[in-house]
Amino acid sequence: MDKLKDHYEQLVKQYREVFVSVLNAMQGEINGLKHEEIKNYLDVEVEKHIQFQRNLVVERRKNFNCGMCGACCRLAISEFSPTQLLEKASRGDKFAKEYISTFSPYDKDEDAEKEFPLYVQLLKESGEKVYYYHCKKVTEDNKCSDYENRPSICRDYPDNPIQMLHPTCSFIGWHESIQKIVLTIRAMSEIREHFRKEFEKGNI
Ligand code: SF4
Ligand code: SF4
Repeated sequence: MDKLKDHYEQLVKQYREVFVSVLNAMQGEINGLKHEEIKNYLDVEVEKHIQFQRNLVVERRKNFNCGMCGACCRLAISEFSPTQLLEKASRGDKFAKEYISTFSPYDKDEDAEKEFPLYVQLLKESGEKVYYYHCKKVTEDNKCSDYENRPSICRDYPDNPIQMLHPTCSFIGWHESIQKIVLTIRAMSEIREHFRKEFEKGNI
């Protein structure tokens, strides 16, 4: 079960390559600017590039449709326990409120694993503690019994380009097609922060 480890290693390698390439490009741009032009470059020009890439992520998602495997209804994962979600919901967190009113926690992790062994094993392999939930409104044939009133967390799923999808999810192709874009956005954001600090210190 080294599949996930290999995937992460490949991702880290790809991120290093993207990071160096973005760093060189941004450094080149900055080298060609006067000191007073750098702030505008970082705040406006880089932001435009980031926004462009974000729009690409959203646009590419439109090429994919839900394959109705029902997996995301039968097994949802959260980094938060039911108690934490309830606390967050009581403090007005809209996402937590929708999540906890849509999904019920599995009684035992083993029950989730019995239902989706491969996915749960992959999640376990990632080493992160997650909590398993399921929705009681999904029907035997993977339909939503309250489709018209389903909450936005269901309507928008999957909207997180870095979350691990179920192996049966038809949006996996979307994830694969945007991997480099997502890494580029992350690299640009990190490098911009670095240059902002250097600018504030007067080093560039
Ligand atoms: S409300 Fe409907 S779409 Fe949302 S998780 Fe439940 S069954 Fe799935
Ligand atoms: S896991 Fe993906 S394909 Fe399956 S029901 Fe959810 S969104 Fe649709």
